[in-house]
Amino acid sequence: MTLSQDVATRRTFAIISHPDAGKTTITEQLLLFGGVVRQAGTVKAKKSGNFAKSDWMEIEQKRGISVTSSVMQFDYEGKRINILDTPGHEDFSEDTYRTLMAVDSAVMVIDSAKGIEPQTKKLFQICKMRGIPIFTFMNKLDRDGRDPLDLIAELEEVLGIEGYPMNWPIGMGKELKGLYDRYHKRVALFRADSDETTYLPLDENGDISDDQPLKTNSWYQDARDNIELIEDAGNQFDMDKIASGDQTPVFFGSALANFGVKTFLETYLQFAPQPAAHHTQEDDDVEPTDDQFSGFVFKIQANMDPKHRDRIAFVRICSGMFKHGMDVTLGRTGKTMRLSNVTQFMADTRENVDTAVAGDIIGLYDTGNYQIGDTIYTGKHKLQFEKLPQFTPELFVRVSAKNVMKQKSFHKGIQQLVQEGAIQLYTSYTTGDYILGAVGQLQFEVFQFRMKNEYNSDVVMEPMGHKIARWIDPEQLDERMSSSRNLLVKDLNEEPLFLFENQFAERWFKDKYPDVTLTAKL
Ligand code: GDP
Repeated sequence: MTLSQDVATRRTFAIISHPDAGKTTITEQLLLFGGVVRQAGTVKAKKSGNFAKSDWMEIEQKRGISVTSSVMQFDYEGKRINILDTPGHEDFSEDTYRTLMAVDSAVMVIDSAKGIEPQTKKLFQICKMRGIPIFTFMNKLDRDGRDPLDLIAELEEVLGIEGYPMNWPIGMGKELKGLYDRYHKRVALFRADSDETTYLPLDENGDISDDQPLKTNSWYQDARDNIELIEDAGNQFDMDKIASGDQTPVFFGSALANFGVKTFLETYLQFAPQPAAHHTQEDDDVEPTDDQFSGFVFKIQANMDPKHRDRIAFVRICSGMFKHGMDVTLGRTGKTMRLSNVTQFMADTRENVDTAVAGDIIGLYDTGNYQIGDTIYTGKHKLQFEKLPQFTPELFVRVSAKNVMKQKSFHKGIQQLVQEGAIQLYTSYTTGDYILGAVGQLQFEVFQFRMKNEYNSDVVMEPMGHKIARWIDPEQLDERMSSSRNLLVKDLNEEPLFLFENQFAERWFKDKYPDVTLTAKL
């Protein structure tokens, strides 16, 4: 196979949703179709089973939320699928946002009883900003949900995206009879007691044949009326709009009952885009089929497997082909790195990988060389992909080792966990104290838990509350500007910034030092 043929088979996407909408359940179904797991419930079991003793999954279990994101790969009908899982909890939004930089499309799972929930909206907006195609799965049709017309209207009203129903529910909850599949021109019959789906073809009038008992069912007739309505007054199917993220194909179904999921996957694979070009800071576009290998690190995770105490830098390949043992340049340092210990992610195992192409995600075993946002490439042509979004922390804690004799593991743990990018580390100018900043409280809890579990280091965290972080040009800095209301600290790059107590403190500062420029982002 040529590189471009290979690349054309790749589908790399993330599933976005509000917690509990059914992302895990649907992921599991997809893996089942891909033959990666043999039994539904495996991914779920992971949440409470094998990993329980090892790590911060315990937190996840306790709080019933997913705090890690992972990569899953499988083959289906000649396509190679990379699913990037995104944690749904809002405290992990930063990690999630970066993950969304590494995909070519997104699947939005919505609980059809709840409609669009806050976290869905946030994640949607990131996808929208990137202009990537979004496919919608309205889940839990086996339960009574909202009127499907309402759900479609809500997409437009709340998210500003046109919905194009690919299928339409025939009844719902206990009365779920099936799905009217506009796209495949057939009706899928629902059977609560079986995974097998029977399909009835539609005639040229869009109807099932007269001898079918369903034909006279009022739910069927309702669905037909609704379909007619959307055919007359609804949106036209528009590939260009889908490609630019202005229209989303909508699929109804039930992940738990495994109803409509397979059709969804197959249709999605037809329309989902293959790997797209990536923009560089030098203002070029790197095409996935370029011979030159390139990729960027979008996530770093330490100790994924406690047996190995490893650290993995997740790389999205943007162009060319990765080959085991190849040398690449790390853009930030100019150093040559040999990629010899590289892994790919099947659902339950991690396998060593020999080759991978643009669109794929590979994991580099790392001993501290990589940072989030790093570009790696082969060839002489220097490359640096566009910056990944950084979020200014809003919550802060002062952190120290409980046992002063254990400073070594404390420092090691902090340095490694900070490199994963979910928390930021600052040092006080005057006292040298360590201060951590994060977008949400949960990140501190995970930090504390992992410090203990992975580095055997008990930490003391003293809450400092909300602060406004503003960077100051070192040339303009006078240490006497610092006070208790605007604490002077430095970040990991030794850049100075103030942590303002609140907006008043910031305004007061600006009035007092009108010539000083303060910036919000790193
Ligand atoms: P996540 O938080 O988005 O990953 O959601 P999960 O996949 O863990 O699902 C949350 C809950 O909803 C679980 O109890 C699932 O069994 C349930 N669930 C998921 N899909 C469906 C569905 O199609 N129908 C029903 N009735 N329940 C579902």
